Amino acid sequence: MSARHYLLRCTACARSYTDDGHRLTCSEPHEPAYLRTEYVTKSLLPREGEAGLFRYRDWLPVTEATANAPGTVIYRSRGLAARLGLSELWIAFHGYWPERGAFAETATFKELEAATVLGRRADRPGTLVVSSAGNTAAAFATACSASQVPCVLVVPEGALGRLASRQPRHPCVRLVSLGGGADYTDAIAFAARIATLSGFEAEGGGWNVGRRDGLATVMLAAHEAIGRTPDHYFQAVGSGVGAIAAHEAALRLGEEPPRLVLCQNDSYAPLHRAWSSSLSGDEIGLADLDGDRAGAHASTTPELTNRQPPYTVRGGVRDVLKESGGTLVAMNDAAAATAMELFSECEGIDIERPAAFAVAALRQEAEGGLIARDAVVLLNITGGGRERFRRDHTLIPAVADVRMHREQALSADALDLVGRLT
Ligand SMILES: [Zn+2]
Repeated sequence: MSARHYLLRCTACARSYTDDGHRLTCSEPHEPAYLRTEYVTKSLLPREGEAGLFRYRDWLPVTEATANAPGTVIYRSRGLAARLGLSELWIAFHGYWPERGAFAETATFKELEAATVLGRRADRPGTLVVSSAGNTAAAFATACSASQVPCVLVVPEGALGRLASRQPRHPCVRLVSLGGGADYTDAIAFAARIATLSGFEAEGGGWNVGRRDGLATVMLAAHEAIGRTPDHYFQAVGSGVGAIAAHEAALRLGEEPPRLVLCQNDSYAPLHRAWSSSLSGDEIGLADLDGDRAGAHASTTPELTNRQPPYTVRGGVRDVLKESGGTLVAMNDAAAATAMELFSECEGIDIERPAAFAVAALRQEAEGGLIARDAVVLLNITGGGRERFRRDHTLIPAVADVRMHREQALSADALDLVGRLT
């Protein structure tokens, strides 16, 4: 294996590892804790002439870069900024907006994860197993098809619509859908079982430094465009991995981390519930998951319904909220609907419902006087321009290779079935 330009460092015991491209956790017996990358290059110089996230390649745990890399478009808002009375509102846009140079095939920042995770796995020994609420699977389907990386994607049946694509999926990319009211958490659980099969490898979600450092390029791009880290960072969260990554990027830049303002849909908001309980000193866990299934199912934003988000893990959501002086709020559907219209009217592009929760949180803070009018604010929009993308392009619906009921997924037969796919 060629030498890599970084080490992995455990956030609990500080043990370091040379990366083999696949390691997800520390080997020492202690509490769950994220590994973080430590790069040889301490002062990042964006690579001139490189577009997309590989512009920040010295701070990406990759040994190879793919062509047509996705990236983040950062621009200074005028319309929404004026409406909210903010003088320095910057938008990190992920999606489809050709006039702004945004062309994400799958319209979300999950493409940043996929490109980095694949670039980290240089030798590709097994079939990658990825679970998703929809957008991550779409990103991996596109990236793995382009690079012909064998992959199994596990999604809830209701998410299949998000996997419609311009190009057909390569046969090495297999799609498993779970029915019977299955949600994102069921997909995570089944993917974890598949990954135990010989020849399969867990992608790892937030545990994969490739995912987090890929998402961290949002903050790196913002830093390059603005010339500093923002004072406040707004994002809608399901797992919160993008927000963790934003915080890690600010630390790596050696600057004051922005105050994270994260938002969930109040119809199902486990992170908000956990954070609120820790503020009151009576911390609750994220247990009782079966009891939460109905709540997650009823939510209008399934992308934000991870029932097992990385909240208490060392280096996870709780830690980054505390370290950044941040907060986690919950907004209702009506506030999101208003915010969605507001964004479209002020900025001239449609956004999806999850992103509207970030806009709603920003609006609440700006109108409530919780942020200074001249504060530097970064609003992370993922899932922009999807309506327009559908109008401009012909999309092929995604059809699952295997469909099963979520209870069937608990059986040994289910694993045999998936094992025979590749
Ligand atoms: Zn450790």
